[in-house]
Amino acid sequence: MIIGIDLGTTNSLACVYRNGKAELIPNRLGESLTPSVVSLDESGEVIVGAVAKERLVSNPTDTAASFKRFMGSKKTFTLRQKEFIPQELSAFVLRQLKQDAEQYLGGEVTEAVISVPAYFNNNQRAATLEAGRIAGLHVERLVNEPSAAALASSMLSDEDEQSYLVFDFGGGTLDVSVVDCFENIIEIVAVSGDNHLGGNDFDTQIAEFFCKSHQIDFGALPRQKQAILKRLSEKAKRELTEKERTFLHMNIDGEDKAVILNNEILIECCTGLFDRMERAVVHALRDSGYCADDIDVVVMAGGSCKMPAVSCFLEKMLGKKPVMIGSPDEVIAQGAGIYAGIKARNEEIKDVLLTDICPFTLGVGSYNPNDHEKSIMSPVIERNSVLPVARTRYFTNVHDRQKEIAFPIYQGEAFDCSENLCLGKIMIEIGPSKAEEAHVSVTFSYDINGILVVDVVDDKGPNRKQQVFMSEGANLTEEEIKQKIEELKKYKISSNGDERDRLLQERGNRIYQELTGADREKVGMALQAYAYALSENDRHAIRVMRQKFAELFDAYEEFLGEEFLDEEFLSEKFPDEE
Ligand code: ADP
Ligand code: MG
Repeated sequence: MIIGIDLGTTNSLACVYRNGKAELIPNRLGESLTPSVVSLDESGEVIVGAVAKERLVSNPTDTAASFKRFMGSKKTFTLRQKEFIPQELSAFVLRQLKQDAEQYLGGEVTEAVISVPAYFNNNQRAATLEAGRIAGLHVERLVNEPSAAALASSMLSDEDEQSYLVFDFGGGTLDVSVVDCFENIIEIVAVSGDNHLGGNDFDTQIAEFFCKSHQIDFGALPRQKQAILKRLSEKAKRELTEKERTFLHMNIDGEDKAVILNNEILIECCTGLFDRMERAVVHALRDSGYCADDIDVVVMAGGSCKMPAVSCFLEKMLGKKPVMIGSPDEVIAQGAGIYAGIKARNEEIKDVLLTDICPFTLGVGSYNPNDHEKSIMSPVIERNSVLPVARTRYFTNVHDRQKEIAFPIYQGEAFDCSENLCLGKIMIEIGPSKAEEAHVSVTFSYDINGILVVDVVDDKGPNRKQQVFMSEGANLTEEEIKQKIEELKKYKISSNGDERDRLLQERGNRIYQELTGADREKVGMALQAYAYALSENDRHAIRVMRQKFAELFDAYEEFLGEEFLDEEFLSEKFPDEE
């Protein structure tokens, strides 16, 4: 069976195409979103999802998040003194999604279509393929997230011909793309974005705002306090989606500190972020050659689009109300699910064609007459070329009697090659000739799966060379992948009873750490009683406590902020407010 997966920085989802539609797959907690968080517990078992997310605060050194940002890089994460690469952590998430899907669908899931940000370069894409393999999934295809969003959107719309701007704003990345849909053809016209801009940055700005208001140095806070503050900041941010204003309150060094927040304050302390959003939109429009008026529909994808400030920003900038198709954080998974349906040759959708574009420039490094040490980029395939694509450029020799020419292959937009990603090198021997007399053609062919074939031909001699620069294996060798697959097997998915119990316990642990004094003790006692009921397997008591303690924890979480809602506090701190 094949499923579609949105492997997000913050949240991941799985989707299956059946009975003529894309159907989101609920996880063990019955939710479609599984936080992309991995934690190791005391017994060395792996915890993925909501339970692990609670442990981000209570056990930060055993827990990792946002590792998608480091896919394709050399960064490692240490959990319980053991090092993990981002591919392994992603594999844990994929394995969990696979397992939950198998449980839900009642059959083995062997294949997947996985979405990646359009801005992912070859290394990052290769790392995603590796994560799939480590998790025991054959990755049928990687799809660009905006392509998936566009596909899902166009399927739900009746119009035959439209131009879309997809604004996909998640927890860690922003993708802006311009997409044309006519009849059954979906064509990505241009993509742009910011690999390091997302909802996380809003949380950070809110936390900074809180710290600045109280002369606290965020960086100097202990890691755990930072995590609590970030979590409370995110909570406040989400509340502003529904409420006019909210409070961020935290106890620091025994002192209660608070700030009031509303959408104006939010926009004010995040102006830098809005500027970067604007830049990404302008860039995408410019690359597409469209103006704002040419866009028929502005589609919002990603959880951060739920912020009213974001839809206001888009409306102001583009002059039309952006639309949400379903829930913004689910639309990409739906698109990936539809792709999976196309791959499985589902009758209803087989006539949907998809063309994609190359989101970055591919070229060779050539001689820089002004600086012999540094090579400069000679683009062969320009970014936003429609795939598959083949292009040829001609090069010559620099010195007399030069025996061979080396062509380093780069991906990226910078003039100076050292700032681009080097994919490898191809060399060719040339016949004897004076400087600038040789004639060598270099042809790049780039296909839909991100595989680059480079052909180099000496037009005046017998020599020709061909080399494949494949995404696969760009980071890990075959041996290393096999080894990782074996290692992963050692880390069992935690199976400690019911996931709901686990979540409640972890949440209790976290709230315990956030409280002080008598409240804290109360939570501690609740946790003890709960653990006892679980160990005795006292079903009746477990059921009663599940409900009671969930209410207690809800109350405490509310209370953490509500305490400051009294009028006196308001008029004293914010005399201008009503
Ligand atoms: P990713 O694609 O990075 O995995 P998602 O699309 O799931 O992420 O979006 C996650 C981001 O959306 C987080 O930063 C989260 O705080 C934000 N988010 C989710 N719901 C809301 C909401 N109601 N209001 C504001 N932000 C939200
Ligand atoms: Mg996303």
